[in-house]
Amino acid sequence: ARASELVASRVLDVPDFPKPGIVFKDLMPLFADGPVFRQVIDEIVAYHGPESFDVVAGVEARGFVVAAAIAYATGKGVVPVRKAGKLPRKTHSASYELEYGEATLEVHEDAFVAGQRVLVVDDVLATGGTAGAALELVERAGGTIAGFTVLMELGFLDGRQRLAPRTVHALLTV
Ligand code: 5GP
Repeated sequence: ARASELVASRVLDVPDFPKPGIVFKDLMPLFADGPVFRQVIDEIVAYHGPESFDVVAGVEARGFVVAAAIAYATGKGVVPVRKAGKLPRKTHSASYELEYGEATLEVHEDAFVAGQRVLVVDDVLATGGTAGAALELVERAGGTIAGFTVLMELGFLDGRQRLAPRTVHALLTV
């Protein structure tokens, strides 16, 4: 099966999480299945050839799982984009709107060598607020965006439009 079908077959819909009315897409069963996880990572690497990026950035926390696997498979390093207050040294930070309130992401100021090409990854693209902040932070820290990839995109939330003109690669769009 192709990775898109594997993602579709392994996602669990969780109604009313984290709040009433939201159907959360739980990808933990995919991460837990060794052959499926490997094929999904291999397909991402085949799409973004290893010659197209220098380092992988993952968005806390499920993005770390995907980023580390891609980095290991391609012999690259991995850089964390973290929630506020977790990184020990000087950071750039970017805040974005949530449905209720605000969230902040941070990256170390010296996370990238100037011009380093960064593949940014997360598990799910929803409204695009998280991805927008992560991409902005990578650039403020001196990186160049080589691509942005997710396993699953919730197409009806229009995150892709919000990130334009940047492009999004999603294994599966629902
Ligand atoms: P956005 O900022 O695009 O609205 O939300 C995307 C961020 O929230 C990602 O970091 C993603 O991990 C998380 N997220 C939002 N909705 C879901 C969902 O239904 N399933 C999963 N696994 N993560 C989600």
